[in-house]
Formats: sequence, C-alpha cells, structure tokens
Amino acid sequence: MWHTNLRARRGVGHVEPGHEGATATLDQMRTALITGITGQDGRFLADLLHEKGYRVVGLMKGQNNPRAELIQREHPFVELVHGDLCDLTSLVTALSAIQPDEVYNLGAISFVAMSFNQAELTANVTGLGVLRMLEAIRIVGGNQNNPIRFYQASSSEMFGKVREALQNEKTPFHPRSPYGCAKVFGHDITVNYRESYDMFACSGILFNHESERRGMEFVTRKITNAVARIKLGVQHELVLGDLEPRRDWGYAGDYVKAMWLMLQQDQPDDFVVATGETYQVKEFVRLAFEAVGIDDWQRYVRQDARFMRPSEVDLLIGDASKAERELGWKREVSFPDLVRKMVDNDMEIERRAIAVAN
Ligand code: NAP
Repeated sequence: MWHTNLRARRGVGHVEPGHEGATATLDQMRTALITGITGQDGRFLADLLHEKGYRVVGLMKGQNNPRAELIQREHPFVELVHGDLCDLTSLVTALSAIQPDEVYNLGAISFVAMSFNQAELTANVTGLGVLRMLEAIRIVGGNQNNPIRFYQASSSEMFGKVREALQNEKTPFHPRSPYGCAKVFGHDITVNYRESYDMFACSGILFNHESERRGMEFVTRKITNAVARIKLGVQHELVLGDLEPRRDWGYAGDYVKAMWLMLQQDQPDDFVVATGETYQVKEFVRLAFEAVGIDDWQRYVRQDARFMRPSEVDLLIGDASKAERELGWKREVSFPDLVRKMVDNDMEIERRAIAVAN
C-alpha cells in the first residue's frame, strides 16, 4: 500500500520554498525517465523536473533522431537513453540502467489526423506502448509495492462523442479516432495494473494544451505560424479544415505541473486537467490574427475538405475540480494569453528566418 510519507520515502531533507532543486544531494536526487522527451510536453516537463532537482533522463527512439540535437542544445541537463515503446526489451534495458523513481509516459503517435491513416501504428505505440512500459516496470521493479511511480498521458480525445456536457473522471468514453481508441486502452491498462499489481500508476486525462513548442502539424501552431508569415508578407492564405469544433485549450507549461503533482500524492489516482472554458477553432484564428493587428481574418482563411477528419469531436470541455481540490493545481495562462504567446514566438522565428535569408 502507498500510505507513505513522500519526503521520508524519498529521503528528501528539509528544503526552503523556492530552493527545491538547489539543496538535493546526489544520493537524495530523484531520477525521472520521460518518454516523448522530444515532444512539446516532454521538454516542458524536463525543465520543471530539472528545476526541482531531479536527474532527468529522456527515452529517445531511432538510431539518428533528428531532434536529439535540439534536446542537447536547449536542455543540456537531460541524459538520453535509447529505447522505443514498440520494443519491450529496450524499455527493460533502459529502466534497469537508470533505476528511475518516476516514469512519465508521454511518448505516442499523438496527431489525431495521422492516426486515421496509420491506425495500426497508432494502436501499437500509443496503446500497446503503455502496456509494454507497465510490463517493463513490473519486470524491473518487482510486483509488490513497486517503487517506480508511473504517469500515463491520457487524453480528452477518449471522451470523443461526449456523453456529458462537462467531462470529468467518471464520464464514459466514446473515442472518435484510432488515437482516441488507443488512448482508452492506455488508460484502462494503467488502471488495471494499478488494481492488479498494486502499482503506483496514475492517468492524467489532459485536455488540449498548446505552447510555443507545439509541433507544426497541430492546428493551433499551423494557425499561429501562418498568421506570422501572412503578417510578414511571406504567405498569403491559411488553409484549414473544420472551423466549428470546440476545444478546451490550456498552456502546456501549466499542465506538466499537474503531471508531477499526481506522482507526489500518497495514493495513485486519475485526474482530469482542463481549463473549463471552450472556444471554437475560428475563435483561435480570430485572436491569432488580432494579435498582429489584422481584424478582417476571413480574407486570409480558406477551408479545404482535405483537412476534415472522417469523424470529428465537436465539443470538449473539462471539469478539473478534482485536480484543483486534491492536487492544488491551477492553470495560470489564459486562452488569449496562450494565443498571444504562440503568435509572438512565431513572429520572432519568422523575422529571424527572413533576416537570415536576406
Ligand atoms: P508530441 O509533441 O507529439 O510528442 C510525442 C512524443 O512521442 C515525441 O517525443 C516522439 O518522439 C515520441 N514517440 C513517438 N513514437 C515513439 C515510440 N515508438 N517510442 C518512443 N517515443 C515515441 O506530443 P505532446 O503534445 O508532447 O503530448 C505528450 C503526450 O500527451 C502524448 O502521449 C499525447 O498523446 C498526450 N496528450 C497530449 C495533449 C496535448 O494537447 N498536447 C493532450 C492530451 C494528451 P520522436 O520525436 O522521436 O518522434
């Protein structure tokens, strides 16, 4: 059972508020393994854990991953270990070598649109990958009171065709994409291993969260990048799919704090993390154009059926009251500020690109 005092269990001594990272000695230092280290959340979480004094290890797939250089340049404190969520042996080897206290499983094929075209790959990485990591933890950590704490990156896409106006931890799932289906499996197997093997395994059901580090394939970054380029005169239109769907959008920097908090509790549990506000895609577009002083945004936006999904999730809005109550989590960045941050960042990147080209 997990009724242990965290500081006693971890051997962490008294730390002045705000200096959590500075006072940890080597034998007190906790180790975290992050899968998906090259992704948006992996990088925010790495920064957060480093600030808290963790040794941070990132699982990197591929023999010559093009994003390894980015991690080494911008997060030099991260140690990289090779491994793939499709390869159980590599996960066992990585865990044996690192002996982590905490594993954050953020690795996934996470782009919903791609999951329709590569459904089998998505099921393998995003779904079965969770099972493989749980098995690796069982093998390396033993079955009884397994000391490795596990976080699974679940998703609001599991709610899909929503059964309740406001979705919470008890809302039934109805996924609308191969990605959503794979995430449901990942969530269920996390709960199952917690109940079957007494593992400290948590599932964070996170609603959409964006940032300056969002991949260009995602609609929010596609919008802010195009807006910057249109403003600077190097692009003339923004082509999108459906503008009507509503999403509950937060800032990734806020959301990784909830991941960490989940693994610091006395008991493992599942939590919805969301803002409780919902906006249509077109509202994101409008705010992004307004951030660069363009009010007649409709002039620049064209819709194309190629970007429509075979089945869409119309409305997502999360109830994070359990996370707020039990974890003390609170989002800090508002929706308009999120859009502005992303646009400002893309303006900066595009200005630099133009300067280099000239
Ligand atoms: P992301 O930017 O797309 O990152 C995905 C990561 O998974 C990348 O680092 C990628 O590595 C890695 N990966 C892919 N295939 C892998 C494999 N076979 N083995 C090991 N790693 C693999 O995603 P994100 O936005 O940071 O999201 C993190 C997690 O939260 C994901 O599981 C996502 O599904 C989930 N989530 C995200 C949101 C959101 O709004 N951002 C909401 C709910 C849940 P490479 O760079 O090497 O391909």
